[in-house]
Amino acid sequence: MSQVGTTPEGVPIILLKEGTRQSRGRDAQRNNIRAAKLIAEIIQTSLGPRGMDKMLVDSLGDITITNDGATILKEIDVQHPAAKMMVEVAKATDSEVGDGTTSSVVLAGALLEKAESLIDDDIHPVIIAEGYKKASKKAMEFLTEITINVEPKDKEILEKIANTSMQTKLVSIEATDLAKLAVDAVLAVIEEKNGTFRVNLDNIKIEKKTGGSISDSELVSGIILDKEIVHSGMPRKIENAKIALINEALEIKKTEFEAKLNISSPNQIKSFMEEENQMLKDMSNKIKSTGANVVLCQKGIDDIIQHYLSKEGILAVRRIKESDMTKLAKATGGRIVGRVDDLNDTELGLAENVEERRVEEDNWVFIEGCKNPKAISMLLRGGTQRVIDEADRSMHDALMVVKDVIEKPKIVYGGGAPESFIALKLRDWSKSLSGRDQLAVEKFADAMESIPLALARNAGMNPIDTITQLRSKQSKGEKFTGVDVINGTIADFEKLGIIEPVKVKEQIIKSATETANMILRIDNVVASSRSSAPPQGGMGGMPGMGME
Ligand code: ADP
Ligand code: MG
Repeated sequence: MSQVGTTPEGVPIILLKEGTRQSRGRDAQRNNIRAAKLIAEIIQTSLGPRGMDKMLVDSLGDITITNDGATILKEIDVQHPAAKMMVEVAKATDSEVGDGTTSSVVLAGALLEKAESLIDDDIHPVIIAEGYKKASKKAMEFLTEITINVEPKDKEILEKIANTSMQTKLVSIEATDLAKLAVDAVLAVIEEKNGTFRVNLDNIKIEKKTGGSISDSELVSGIILDKEIVHSGMPRKIENAKIALINEALEIKKTEFEAKLNISSPNQIKSFMEEENQMLKDMSNKIKSTGANVVLCQKGIDDIIQHYLSKEGILAVRRIKESDMTKLAKATGGRIVGRVDDLNDTELGLAENVEERRVEEDNWVFIEGCKNPKAISMLLRGGTQRVIDEADRSMHDALMVVKDVIEKPKIVYGGGAPESFIALKLRDWSKSLSGRDQLAVEKFADAMESIPLALARNAGMNPIDTITQLRSKQSKGEKFTGVDVINGTIADFEKLGIIEPVKVKEQIIKSATETANMILRIDNVVASSRSSAPPQGGMGGMPGMGME
C-alpha cells in the first residue's frame, strides 16, 4: 500500500510518518465489518433468559462472571478500531437506558453482516447507510403501532418491567425478589415536577455485603454507612434521632502559619491545655444545645470531643464521604453546616432510628425510618462476591428500566415480538420503494430478526423453524407473538406478560443503526505506528481481526 504520492514531475511526497499503516477501500470496509461482526458473535450467545454467561479474566487474574453485554465488552480488551466502536454502542445504550446493551450490539452486527452482501453486489456503502437510516426512522413509527401506554406509577407494571430485565441475568425467584426492591427503591425517590416524574438514581445508595442469600437483600428508608460509631462509650442506638450534619473537623484548628509558643513554666502548659480542652468542650456543648443526639461528620472528630459527646449520650460517626453526606441530607431532611457555630435546631435531620448493627464481620451504622426520604439505601446480599456483583449489575439494569418507564410510560411486549413485527412491516413498506433503497430496507428487516433468531438459538430451539412460524403468526396480525424461550415454543407475549420499556427498544434501534452506518462510511483506516491498535495481524490474540 502506498503512503507516498508523487508530484506531476515524479517527485515523491511523503504524507505519512514512517511505520504508519493504512488500509483503504474495500479492504478497510471488509476488515471493519469483520471485526464488528466478531464482537456481535461473541455477545449474542448471552442474549435473553437462556443466554450464557461469560467468564472474563483480566490481566491481574481477577475473574468476572457476567451476562451483561456492557460489562462483557468493558472487560475484554478490544484493539481493533471498528470493534471499539461496537463497544461504544453498548456503552451508549447502557448509560442512556441501562438495558438492551446486548441487543444493540447484536443488531449492529447483523446490520453490518447484511450490508456486506449488498457491498458484494456492488452497492455503495453510503447508499446502504442512507437506506438504513430511512429504515430506522420508519421502524420507530412501526414501533408506535405496538406501543402501549401505562400509568407511570403502576406498581404491577413496573415490577413486570424490572422482572423481565432481571430474568435474563438471575435465577427466577431471586429476580422476582430483587425486582420488587428495585421498584420500591425508585418509587421512594421519585420527584414530580409539573405533572411529569423524574428519577435520579444517585439518590439510591447501594451497599453490598457477602453473606446470606440474595433474598436477604433489603431496602432501608434512610442511609446505610459502612462506618462504626467513633467512641465505645457512645450509645449504640438512638431512637427519634435528631441529626447534626457537619462538614467541619471537630477539633482545634491548626493555625495556618507556624507559631512558636514560649512557655516558661509548667503552669503555662497547663493553662494552655485547659484552654484547648475548654474550646472542645464548648463545641460539644454547642452541639448539645441544639438538641442534636446524633452527629454525622464529614471530617475527623478529636478524641476529647468524642469523650464529651459520649458523656452527653450523643452518638457520632466521622469521615463520612461527601456523596453520602448529600444523601444523608436528602434522606433526613437536614442541612449540612460548614461550622458548628452555625448549627441550630432547624437544621437537624430526623430519623426514627440510628443504630450500629453487625453486618457479617463489620459494624455499620443504619440511619432509618426517615419520613419521606428523598434518598434511600439498598443492602444487597449474596453468597459470594461474584453473585453479589452480578446482582448489582442486574439491579442497575432494573432500576434503569423502571426509571425509563416512569419517565416515559410506554411499553411493548418482549421476546423478540417487536423486532419481528417491525421486520414484517418494513418488508411491506420496502415494496413501495425503488431499487437500492428497497434492498437496504429489506436487509434492515432481516437484521431486526437477528434478535428473535438469537433468542431461539440460545434456547436450543431450531432458529429457522422458529422464525418461519413467527413470520407466519405475525403476518396473520398476531403482533405480540415472540419466542418463548422458557417453554421452547413461540407464544403470545401479551399473555405471558413479559414487557419492556419502549425507550429501550428505541435506543437499541437508534444506536445500532448509527454505529453500523458509521462503520459503513469508513473507507480508509490510518493507524499510526505508536497506536496501540496493531494494523496488521495480531488483534489482541483474536484470529482474523487484522486490518490487512
Ligand atoms: P439486553 O442486554 O439486550 O437487555 P438480555 O440478555 O437482557 O439482553 O435479553 C433481552 C431480550 O430477552 C429482550 O429481547 C427480551 O424481550 C427477551 N426476553 C426477556 N425475557 C424473555 C422470556 N421470558 N422469553 C423470551 N424472551 C425474553
Ligand atoms: Mg436486559
